[in-house]
Amino acid sequence: MSYLPVQQLLKSGSVGTDVTVKGWVRTKRESKNAIFIALNDGSTINNIQAVAEAGQLPDDVLKLITTGACVAITGQLVESQGAGQSVEIKISNVHIYGPADPDKYPLQPKRHSLEFLREIAHLRPRTNTFSAILRIRHALAFAVHTYFNDNGFFYLNTPIITASDAEGAGEMFRVTTLDATKPPLSEDGKVDYSQDFFGRETNLTVSGQLEGELGALALGKIYTFGPTFRAENSNTTRHLAEFWMIEPEMAFHELLDNMNLAEDFVKTVIRYALQHCEDDLAFLDNRLQEEEKTKKKEEQSAMGLLEKLQFVISNEFERLTYTEAVEILVNSKPAKKGQFQYEVSWGVDLQSEHERYLVEKHFKKPVILTNYPRDIKAFYMKQDDAPATNARGQVFGETVRAMDVLFPGIGEIIGGSQREDDLDKLTARMQEVGIEPDAIWWYLDTRRFGSAPHAGFGLGFERLVQFVTGMGNIRDVIPFPRAPKQAEF
Ligand code: ATP
Ligand code: MN
Repeated sequence: MSYLPVQQLLKSGSVGTDVTVKGWVRTKRESKNAIFIALNDGSTINNIQAVAEAGQLPDDVLKLITTGACVAITGQLVESQGAGQSVEIKISNVHIYGPADPDKYPLQPKRHSLEFLREIAHLRPRTNTFSAILRIRHALAFAVHTYFNDNGFFYLNTPIITASDAEGAGEMFRVTTLDATKPPLSEDGKVDYSQDFFGRETNLTVSGQLEGELGALALGKIYTFGPTFRAENSNTTRHLAEFWMIEPEMAFHELLDNMNLAEDFVKTVIRYALQHCEDDLAFLDNRLQEEEKTKKKEEQSAMGLLEKLQFVISNEFERLTYTEAVEILVNSKPAKKGQFQYEVSWGVDLQSEHERYLVEKHFKKPVILTNYPRDIKAFYMKQDDAPATNARGQVFGETVRAMDVLFPGIGEIIGGSQREDDLDKLTARMQEVGIEPDAIWWYLDTRRFGSAPHAGFGLGFERLVQFVTGMGNIRDVIPFPRAPKQAEF
């Protein structure tokens, strides 16, 4: 049986024709003369209303039309009498695919808490909020591929199972087929991974960057967009154990090119969402405004969701060095009043409270911080020629060509750098931080043969979706979140 997506019907359905729609009942309302069914099929946040005359539908069918039931409705598309929709369906037939026992179906036509919905993640895509988020997530993913394709990048699939433990980006999940209750042991009593599936220790990847660099030094410009795993035991609203990362890597790009690309890229994909997800964003904007009203005045955010997105795409990101940022932080009110939980001085890794102060209080816009101290960044970042100094000529320490993009409400959304392309400097740095160069001989080969300046960055896709949807918790922007003690669905 042919049927039309509700989205298409509402946009271009012609009045007077017979149509069939298929979806899930959101609500059923009965008046003296008629029965109104609001049907949603997930193609749009908007429901289609279907109307039957009182007594028209057999009782046994009527009884099964309850919230959550799956039905096909056939009838004539007519102009709507009621407010709220332009067209509706004058029902001629209702077919019940799957009823949903109203005493047991957990979703009711009312607002459920996000916490409760996390417990029924298998059903939450049927709510307005989550279907909106998932459609926006799709649009953003599509925009990511479009952006890179339009700009001459090739999509490179890097391995999910990896033997390199040198990435150093986070705690890893081991991949093994050994029997956990009695693993083979070598003479020194340690687990003998030579007997494991790959004949060595393997883990789930924490980043595709190292392999991405191999691609860039052959294809010029590549990007990865794949699942990434970090066994960080941090129960924050910005960390998942399984998330999707986008990692472009470009030959012949230096730090400035990298910053320009990162800024243009995020602005372009946000603009795409604004243009293609109008209804869903309007719904989330509204939802957020309601939520804001329940907060204390001083905690309410100054901008609505749509306003915030417009603001970000139409203003230049603030760019400054780590050294300049520390200067601002050290002299800030919260630092002087002892209101930061973590002390800040040149050399420390900035905490989320510091990043958010810079973005939300000081500059009030996205910020790109560059040239971080070498000791708090990864071994592969390109070393700066001279140590950092401030405006007063005070000399600090060695820095690298790193860049972090910080966003309001999120903190770090992108982390990247120009890469060290000098073999001697790179191996010296590896030895300093205790990474055996032989372990990633293949990575070092790029510096041995035809090395080139290059740069790249990693964007956490869920943090981007969080920003665009305005959701406070990262677990609400991925269909089935993985976090400590959470892997049910
Ligand atoms: P953070 O300091 O916020 O933990 P990071 O510095 O460890 O992040 P990178 O290694 O630079 O992160 O990874 C690049 C990007 O991946 C980050 O900017 C962020 O957007 C995203 N990201 C990192 N860890 C996670 C995570 N556990 N869950 C979701 N996104 C993440
Ligand atoms: Mn980072």
